[in-house]
Amino acid sequence: MKRVLVVWVMLVFAICAAADAKKAQVSTKPLPTTTPRVNSARAMQYTREVTAIGNRQIGSPGHKKTEDYIREHLKGDNVEEDVFTAQTPVGAISCRNFIAKYPGTKDGIIVISGHYDTNYGLKNYVGANDGGSSTALLLELANQFRGKKLEGYSVWLVWFDAEEAVKDWTATDGLYGSRHLANKWRQAGLLTKIKAHMLLDMIGDADLNVDRETNSTSWLQDLVYQAATKLGYQSYFFGRSLAIDDDHIPFVQLGVPSVDIIDMNYGPGDSYHHTPKDTIDKVSAKSLGIVGDTVLQTVQMLNKN
Ligand SMILES: [Zn+2]
Repeated sequence: MKRVLVVWVMLVFAICAAADAKKAQVSTKPLPTTTPRVNSARAMQYTREVTAIGNRQIGSPGHKKTEDYIREHLKGDNVEEDVFTAQTPVGAISCRNFIAKYPGTKDGIIVISGHYDTNYGLKNYVGANDGGSSTALLLELANQFRGKKLEGYSVWLVWFDAEEAVKDWTATDGLYGSRHLANKWRQAGLLTKIKAHMLLDMIGDADLNVDRETNSTSWLQDLVYQAATKLGYQSYFFGRSLAIDDDHIPFVQLGVPSVDIIDMNYGPGDSYHHTPKDTIDKVSAKSLGIVGDTVLQTVQMLNKN
């Protein structure tokens, strides 16, 4: 569970207007061939397969299967497995972040991340959007960066473990993987090399409305919006503003430019979030494509800076 700290700041009519306008605003015009695109059908297929594993909470058989699934899809890549122990309210649990590294020509790193665990202690829960969509889209992004000489910053893809709280969301229950990795990278002197960190969470919602998350770094968030606008996707972004505790926070606190790309309103009144209703039929290839393309476009823009 992510805590919403600030209530909606946009006027209701503005949200409604944005929702009405958005379908018509998706560009169908062919884009220049230099515009990078993800394979959204493949990202959707990955989401389907990860979701089919079922419950993926830390310490569970489904969690282990998900680790194998990620490993299998990153075969041959430079992958670091960052094993650590989370001290949770139900005891110590072994956890693991995955970091896939794709070298670039420019000094510096762009981190793109998401979490792969699902909510703890829920029955009949498969987390298609919350956990599934980010796991899958990161694997599709890996397909885009693999085997290429990246003309720009290196790209590191991170699958965080143990984002979800085990009991109640507090400063010490939740964000286990990101807190661990931010601290590890701080000790290694790596944080200053990170030019930008884009976190993806709950981005598969078929009714996509990415929030303007107010703990995020403004210039990076503005760049994401510019990227979305360039692709004709702007109406899917930033219709409302709110603060969310998520895996970017440990990095923000240590001065790493970070943006949380998240749609926190999942289903009517957020009624699918952390419930058995978070199923694959609520996720769309189109939404995965919109976010994936926007991320690739942002990377391209960062490389030009
Ligand atoms: Zn969650």
